[in-house]
Amino acid sequence: MPLDSASIMELRETHYNATVVEIHLIHSELALFRVKRDAGPLTFSPGQYTVLGLGYWEPRLPETQPESLTPELEHKLIKRAYSISCRLLDSQGTLSPTATDELLEFYIALVRRTASTPPALTPRLFALKEGDRLHVGDHVHGHYTVDPIDSDQDVFFLATGTGEAPHNAMAVELLARRHRGRITNVTCVRYRRDLGYLKKHRALETLYPNYRYISLTTREPENLDPQHPDYMGKQYLQELVESGELEREAGAQLDPKSAQVYLCGSPDMIGVPIRTHDPAKRYPVPKGMVEVLEQRGFRVDQPHHPGNIHFEKYW
Ligand SMILES: Cc1cc2nc3c(=O)[nH]c(=O)nc-3n(C[C@H](O)[C@H](O)[C@H](O)COP(=O)(O)OP(=O)(O)OC[C@H]3O[C@@H](n4cnc5c(N)ncnc54)[C@H](O)[C@@H]3O)c2cc1C
Repeated sequence: MPLDSASIMELRETHYNATVVEIHLIHSELALFRVKRDAGPLTFSPGQYTVLGLGYWEPRLPETQPESLTPELEHKLIKRAYSISCRLLDSQGTLSPTATDELLEFYIALVRRTASTPPALTPRLFALKEGDRLHVGDHVHGHYTVDPIDSDQDVFFLATGTGEAPHNAMAVELLARRHRGRITNVTCVRYRRDLGYLKKHRALETLYPNYRYISLTTREPENLDPQHPDYMGKQYLQELVESGELEREAGAQLDPKSAQVYLCGSPDMIGVPIRTHDPAKRYPVPKGMVEVLEQRGFRVDQPHHPGNIHFEKYW
């Protein structure tokens, strides 16, 4: 039996500790959520993540995979990890490192359905309105930060979809620190409409000559239709790195002696090998970025084994 409204109010009061102040819908399946915690700003390093949560009692967006709830789930909180993103520039067009923003920004894709268990959180997050309440973690997590980067190194942030969220926070942090090496921020999406920060990245490029934002698509007509006048096929990060095209476009070299690479988003793009440090390690098929980079002399960064490939897998 569904919970009555008094029980729902009580559960929200107990579990929620933050307010959604702004929602910028980029399109129906992609949004920026700007959130204020009741307890004040979180302290974190750019690149880290926290959790967002909503109760199973909250309504789901229509046209998402239906779910059937057991009675014990109805009172529970759904929690998922989210990288803390960055608005890049404030309303005056000035660089806005995360530490200067009183709100937390999250860049989130709606998962309408999966092949297995119905997605629990995003169908509810996308039903929220500005002013609604939710749960935000009291802690931040992760070692995916700018700590390993020296000021003269070239940095490559390579993402799929919303995987650019931590890269935006880290790139702005580096620019604020007057990083001297080149910063190349690359995002691979299905359609151009999935580039939620594109305009701000272009503005950043005009302000900082060492900053470059490159967008790649896989499902536009020029990616799919060989008759298209600008046909280029699907633009996968792995292939563009192997062909040298990404470096030409970036004007920076993927040299293991002078560059650090950050990979975030889909596990297929990252391609983490099984038994990372074992000489007999096996790489996944199809080839991911870790294999492509290790063939060029890069190494995965691990506790006690410092390296120049860093990654954050979203699933
Ligand atoms: C450290 C970390 C940071 C994360 N940061 C972000 C972030 O900044 N933005 C964000 O949108 N997601 C992020 N995620 C994914 C997020 O935690 C959820 O898994 C996602 O929002 C789906 O939640 P759900 O409950 O609706 O679906 P779930 O029941 O969690 O379904 C998961 C399935 O949805 C798909 N999926 C998950 N994430 C995405 C995605 N981002 N884009 C497309 N498909 C996806 C995968 O097929 C996955 O198997 C992060 C995950 C981790 C581990």
